[in-house]
Amino acid sequence: DITDMHEKEEAQKKMEITAKAAEEKYKILTSLLPEIIIETDTTGRLTFASLRTIEVFEYGSDLYTNNLCLHDLIIRKDRERCKDFFKKTIAGEVILESEYTAITKSGYKFPVTIHATRMYSDGEVVGLSVVMFDITKEKHAERKALSYQENMLFLSNSALKFLTFSDEDDIFIFIGKSISKIVPKSVVIVFSYDQGNNISNIRYISGIHSQTQRVITALGKPPEDFLIELPRKFKNKYLSKKILMRLNGLEDAVDENWPKEPLEEIQKILHLHDYFAMGMSRRGKLYGGLLLATKTDDETVETQLVETFIYQAGIALHRKQVETELMRAKLAAEESDRLKSAFLANMSHEVRTPLNGILGLAQLLLKTDIDKTTHDDYVKMIVESGNSLLSLIEDIMDVSKIEAKQMKIKYKPFKINDLMDQLFSVFLANPLYVQKNEGKQRIELKCNKPVENLTLLSDPERLQQILINLIGNAIKFTQDGTVEFGYELKKDKILFYVKDSGIGIPKDKAEKIFERFIQVDSTLARKFSGSGLGLAISKGLIDLLDGEIWVESDLGKGSTFFFTVPYYTTSFIESTLQPEKESPVYYDWEGYTLLMVEDDKINSRVVEAMLRNTKIKVIHVDNGKKAIETVRDHPEIDIVLMDMHLPELSGLEATRIILKNRADLPVIAQTANAMSEDKDRCIDAGCVDYIGKPINMDDLYFKISRYLPERKS
Ligand code: ADP
Repeated sequence: DITDMHEKEEAQKKMEITAKAAEEKYKILTSLLPEIIIETDTTGRLTFASLRTIEVFEYGSDLYTNNLCLHDLIIRKDRERCKDFFKKTIAGEVILESEYTAITKSGYKFPVTIHATRMYSDGEVVGLSVVMFDITKEKHAERKALSYQENMLFLSNSALKFLTFSDEDDIFIFIGKSISKIVPKSVVIVFSYDQGNNISNIRYISGIHSQTQRVITALGKPPEDFLIELPRKFKNKYLSKKILMRLNGLEDAVDENWPKEPLEEIQKILHLHDYFAMGMSRRGKLYGGLLLATKTDDETVETQLVETFIYQAGIALHRKQVETELMRAKLAAEESDRLKSAFLANMSHEVRTPLNGILGLAQLLLKTDIDKTTHDDYVKMIVESGNSLLSLIEDIMDVSKIEAKQMKIKYKPFKINDLMDQLFSVFLANPLYVQKNEGKQRIELKCNKPVENLTLLSDPERLQQILINLIGNAIKFTQDGTVEFGYELKKDKILFYVKDSGIGIPKDKAEKIFERFIQVDSTLARKFSGSGLGLAISKGLIDLLDGEIWVESDLGKGSTFFFTVPYYTTSFIESTLQPEKESPVYYDWEGYTLLMVEDDKINSRVVEAMLRNTKIKVIHVDNGKKAIETVRDHPEIDIVLMDMHLPELSGLEATRIILKNRADLPVIAQTANAMSEDKDRCIDAGCVDYIGKPINMDDLYFKISRYLPERKS
C-alpha cells in the first residue's frame, strides 16, 4: 500500500513536472509568436506579455514593474469600454464588439481588435488570456473605399452647387471653404484673376486663425489687401498645368519682387510644410487660382480630389463670366434700343418744329397781299428756323464725327481771357438770353476771369463750342437768377466752370446726362427743347482735349458744370510751336479745268463760290452719265470733284468708268458720310482722295492743290 502510495506520489510528481514543462514550453512558444499576446490576473493587471507585445508597446521590462493593466494599452477615450469588456469577459459573457485604439508608451496609436478567454487554475478563474490584432491595414483599406465613395459624392454635389451661385464672390468663398474641408490642417488662399488688368485679388483665406495678427505684422497689411500682379510665368504655369503643382515655398507663389523675409517668417509662424498651387482656367483663360499649404507633415492632400474640384471651379467661373457678359450685352442692347426709339421720336419732333415753321411761313410768303414788314418778319423767322435746323444737323454731325474718330483737334496758343470776353458778348446778344430778360424775371450773366491773361495751348474753337453748350444749357434751364462762368489755374490744369441757379439735376442722372440722347426729362411734353446731344459732344471733345468733365448739382437750386484741360507753361508752348503762318496762301489755278459732278444746286454754288478766287475753270454736271460724256468730250479737264450720292449712276460707278479711259485723271470724292468705310470704298473705286461734306474751304484748296498736275507749259 505504501509502495502504492509512493508510486502514486511519484507518478503525480512526474505529471506535475511534465505539466510544468509543457506550460513552460507553451509560454516560450507564445512569447515567441509574432502576435500581441497578453495574460492578466482577475483585476486586469498584466501577468504575461509576448515579446512582440513588449516590442510594439515600447515598454521593455517596465511592462511589469509599472503594474500596467490591459486598459492602459488603450487610448483614454476607449478605456471605460475596455474595462467593461474585461469585467464582462471575466464574468463569462461573450463580447462580440471589440474594436479599440491601442496606444504605445510613446503615444503612437493604432486600431486593434481584442479577443479574450478566461484562464483557469484548479477550476478557478485566475485571469484572461488576450490576443490583440493590429488592424491598421484593414482599416486603411476600409477608409480608402469609404473616402472614394465620399469623394465621388462630394464632387457630384459640388458640381451641382457650382451651378446655383448667382454671385461670383460666393463661388470663391465656396471654393475656399470646400478646400479647407478636404484639407483641414492647412492654409487656403483663393484668388481671382482679372485678365484685362493682370491683377489678382485674394477672395478667400483660411487657416491663419489665431496667428492673423502676426501675419499682418510680418506682411505690413492684411493679406486680403494684396493686389498681386501675376507675372507672366505664373500665368502660363497656371494655365498650362492642369494639375496641383508642388511649390518649394511661399516665395514660389508670388512675384520675384516680393521681399523674402516676411514670407519666410510667415512659413515659420504658421508651421507650413508642403505648398501647392493650381490655376482655375477654362478655354485658355485664367479666372483665378488656389494656393494651399499644409500645416503638419501628416496632413495628406488628396491630389486627385483637389484637382477635379478646382477643374470644376474653373468651369464655374468661366460660366459665370460668360453669363455676366451676356447679361451686360443684353442690358446694353435693350438700353440702346430704348435710346434709339426715344432719339427718333425726339429728333423727328426737333426737326419738324423748325421745318413746319419754314414751310408754313414760306406758304404765307407766296401770298401776294402781304406788306413789306410782314414779309421781312417771315423771312427773318424762316432764317431763324433754318438756323436751328442747321445747328441740330451740326450736332448730329459732330456726334458721328466723334464716334467715327474723325473729329480733328487743332492745337494753337491763345489768350483765355479773350475767349471769355468773346463768349460774354456773344451771350449778351443770345436770343434766348434776351428773350428771358424781357419778362419780369431776369438772368444775370457773369464772367469771372483772373487778372493775368493766361495763354493756353489747346483748341480754342472746340473750347468755345463746349462753353457755348454749357452756358446755353445754363441759360435754358434757369428762369431767374444768375449764370456765371469762368476759369482758374489749378496746378497743371485749367479748370473751367459754368454755374447756374436753375432747376438742377437729380443725383441719379448727374452722370447719365453726358451720354448721347440722355435728357432728364425725355418726354415729348417736356418744357425745354433740345436734342440731348450737347453734353455728349462736349464730353467727347473734352476727352479729345485730354480733360475731364463733371457736374455738381442741387435739385431746385442750380448746377455747376466743371471741366479741365491740361495747361502748359508759356515757355513750353513757345518751345514746341513754330510761329503761325500769318498770311493766308492764295492759289492761282488759271488755265486749269475742274469738273464738278454734283446734283445739289446749293452745294454746287457753294463750291463754285469757294473756287472763284482761284480762277480755275469749273464745268458743272449733275449726274454720272453726263460726267462720263463730259470727260470724254473735254480732254482739257485736269481734275474731278465727284459727289458720291448721285441719281441713277452712282459716283463710284461713274468714277470707275471715267478712269477706264483716263487712268491718270485725279478724282476727289465728296460725300456726306463721315464713316471711314465710305472713304475706303471711294479709294477702292480709284479716287485719289476724299472730302467730307459740308466742304471745308481749306480742305478743298489743299486737296486740289495736291492733286492738280504740274502746270502745262
Ligand atoms: P439738351 O440740352 O439738348 O437736351 P444736353 O446734352 O445739352 O442736351 O443736356 C442733356 C440734359 O441734361 C438736358 O436735357 C437736361 O435735362 C440736363 N441739363 C443739362 N444742363 C443742365 C443745367 N444747367 N441745369 C439743369 N439740367 C441740365
